[in-house]
Amino acid sequence: MSLYQSQLRLLPSVDELLHTQSGQDLVARYSHPLAVQAIRESITLARQSILRGEDCPSNSTLLVQATHHLQERELPHLRPLINATGVIINTNLGRAPMSAASLEAVRQVASGYSNLEYDLAAGERGSRHSHVSQLLSEITGAEAALVTNNNAAAVLLGLSALAQSCEVIISRGQLVEIGGGFRVPDVMRQSGCQLVEVGTTNRTRITDYERAISGETALLLSVHPSNFLISGFTEATPEHELVSLAHEHKLLVMHDLGSGCLLPSERYGLAHEPTPQESIKAGVDLVCFSGDKLLGGPQAGILVGKASVMQRLAKHPLMRAVRIDKMTLAALEATLQHYQRDEAERHIPIWRMIAARPEQLGVRVDRWIEQLKAQGINARRQAGQSTVGGGSLPTETLPTVLLTLEQHHCARPLEEIASDLRAQRLPVIARISRDTLLFDPRTVLEEQDQALVQAITQNASPVR
Ligand SMILES: *Cc1c(COP(=O)(O)O)cnc(C)c1O
Repeated sequence: MSLYQSQLRLLPSVDELLHTQSGQDLVARYSHPLAVQAIRESITLARQSILRGEDCPSNSTLLVQATHHLQERELPHLRPLINATGVIINTNLGRAPMSAASLEAVRQVASGYSNLEYDLAAGERGSRHSHVSQLLSEITGAEAALVTNNNAAAVLLGLSALAQSCEVIISRGQLVEIGGGFRVPDVMRQSGCQLVEVGTTNRTRITDYERAISGETALLLSVHPSNFLISGFTEATPEHELVSLAHEHKLLVMHDLGSGCLLPSERYGLAHEPTPQESIKAGVDLVCFSGDKLLGGPQAGILVGKASVMQRLAKHPLMRAVRIDKMTLAALEATLQHYQRDEAERHIPIWRMIAARPEQLGVRVDRWIEQLKAQGINARRQAGQSTVGGGSLPTETLPTVLLTLEQHHCARPLEEIASDLRAQRLPVIARISRDTLLFDPRTVLEEQDQALVQAITQNASPVR
């Protein structure tokens, strides 16, 4: 009899394991079919390892593996993680974390009934937009406001309602792709507009727009080229000139701002990001932007502008297809209140991150290094750069302090460590640059500091 066979004979049956105390506990907790499946799987794995020359595991090891398997299964597929990349707004990582007040507002509204579409004073049907339209008007200076489920929907709605079957004039420098399949020319086509490109990639003047206006024109469209920068010999048409030209010809101006930055970005050492307030002041008829980029709230599309324009949008059939849900509305209202109370920088996570100074970040990194050192792990600090991300301020960086793990201090390849960090229950996403694994504290929430140090300790075994 071969060695394999003698070991294989030691393997218990599914039934045998199922009838132990631990097996019965699994049945009670996860149901009979799931317990059987998990036990069968751990026996299968044990058989494979025996065939590779290993000994048969004990019954208790097999049951521990089955339990582990079931616990893994129970984890939600969509779950939180630690973003140590230093990219503040990353669509892949869920964009903007929300403020405590926004989360509480969601909890309050979602755990019971609400006046979502109910006018409490009149005791009759109301509008879901009413909860934020006043706030948005006060913050941006616009006459009226509407909200959709994201900004892509807001652009689609705006173009469909204002320019279907008509010509829309746009600068060649603004026919951009935002990412995730959002290309301005495609959205225009989908909205039934006739695209009229004017100017060149780097320069578009007001006379270019003027010459292109015809009897079929409905709208001049301006799109913020969010994720790239054309520099050098460039010229863009000032917004107020576009507005004068459009209104002279009884046309509308729409501006897709992308990010919806409500605070002056230059206050934080960044380049100036155009704000909705400026566009409204310049007289733009419709301005749209995202709720979860520099606004720092939930995924949403925000439309602000002239009351007459908003009335047309509100009546369009697409409005129903792109409507915002109650949890988003609750979070958005609470986020906007931070701006109204002039406390955005303190309460909105992405603005706290943007405002964090390298000295403060360095203090955290030093603390991490000290804790890691106590575990025998040699990490260092290094000056670095964080970025805003999310298609905002593409070439702008914020000076930061990084925690670094160098390859020659680690027993395993950095790629392997990075991959194990991602496989944690609370995954950690770090960056690798050359022979260094980098962790930027700017995007790590302070309450995650302990978990981060623990994750590094468990995965970055030092060179002996
Ligand atoms: C991000 C962006 C969009 C899409 O906004 P979502 O909220 O992601 O749908 C549209 N236009 C511009 C200019 C953008 O930057």
